[in-house]
Amino acid sequence: MNFSFQVETRDKSSKARTGVLKTPHGEIRTPVFMPVGTQATVKAMTNEQILDAGAQIILGNTYHLYMRPGHELIREAGGLHRFMNWDKPILTDSGGFQVFSLGELRKLTEEGAAFQSHIDGSRHLFTPEKVVEIEEALGSDIMMVLDECTPYPADHEYTEHSMERTHRWAKRCKDAQTRDDQALFGIVQGGMYPELRKKSAEEIAKLDFIGNAIGGLSVGEPKPMMYEMLDVVTDVLPEEKPRYLMGVGTADCLVEGVARGVDMFDCVLQTRIARNGTALVRSGKLVIRNAEYAKDFRPIDEACDCYACRNHTRAYIRHLIKTNEILGATLLSIHNTRFTIRLMEEIRGHIEAGTFQEFRREFMGNFRI
Ligand SMILES: [Zn+2]
Repeated sequence: MNFSFQVETRDKSSKARTGVLKTPHGEIRTPVFMPVGTQATVKAMTNEQILDAGAQIILGNTYHLYMRPGHELIREAGGLHRFMNWDKPILTDSGGFQVFSLGELRKLTEEGAAFQSHIDGSRHLFTPEKVVEIEEALGSDIMMVLDECTPYPADHEYTEHSMERTHRWAKRCKDAQTRDDQALFGIVQGGMYPELRKKSAEEIAKLDFIGNAIGGLSVGEPKPMMYEMLDVVTDVLPEEKPRYLMGVGTADCLVEGVARGVDMFDCVLQTRIARNGTALVRSGKLVIRNAEYAKDFRPIDEACDCYACRNHTRAYIRHLIKTNEILGATLLSIHNTRFTIRLMEEIRGHIEAGTFQEFRREFMGNFRI
């Protein structure tokens, strides 16, 4: 077996835990934040910079890689690891989320999701079987099943039908898998209905995937609602398997997600807001492009050990952003990625030391937006 997950420490007064997830490309210490490399690159960062930020695993997006350069080309290159020269673990999503975001350009049936390319209008069909075939060509360590990310808001009837189809698709993905060196994760849906979330978690758990993900959260619902759904789901999902909260990565949600027993997170926010000139800090965000930083010769964050904070000032980075210099996006991406990974390292340390609750209280007390 190429995969194993071991819970190492449990927090006494929450569901937080630390663990080790073993994959064919190395071990991952959890809870973990996974930077997103949509098009086989974490935008504006070299692999060396991603490693320096402390990344243990990155994401690739199946939809984008299927479109360009195409999964057959990546197979020919020897898989995604070799194509992008990243030899640590990679997780690929199913492409479902991007397809469903196409709106008018896609149509959902029991068979799968038919859609038109956002690039050239060509027609395609993502079935559960097709998605597994693409992810096997990419050769990621962890692949995700095809699901429907239920929109918010959605009525009970729609949510239930969508959830049941997601369960059938999960089973079809499992049956379609041919490689045994990739772990397939199931995805829990169920919208914002606690009883549907519970049912979905039970059904997905029954399918006995190597890990379980929680999808369809952080889609516009208020945070307390997301936390309520999370609590319902992590009470049902098996303890001995990794849990992955998809597409969630603001600092407050990371802390609160860990407190509810989540082990893995990913988010595009870190690098996306970097390109817009925003830095993540303990209290929330620092909009570096604002005039107030024009003559601020301090680093973004005095306590940060990243390359940008060790070498450059807010004033310099603001100048780069204001003049649309590529380096500005790179420096802020390095900082935001390191900031988030360092937060996860700190969280792991506090769980191990038995001080997670104090840390959580203090962190949430200082965090704004
Ligand atoms: Zn920094």
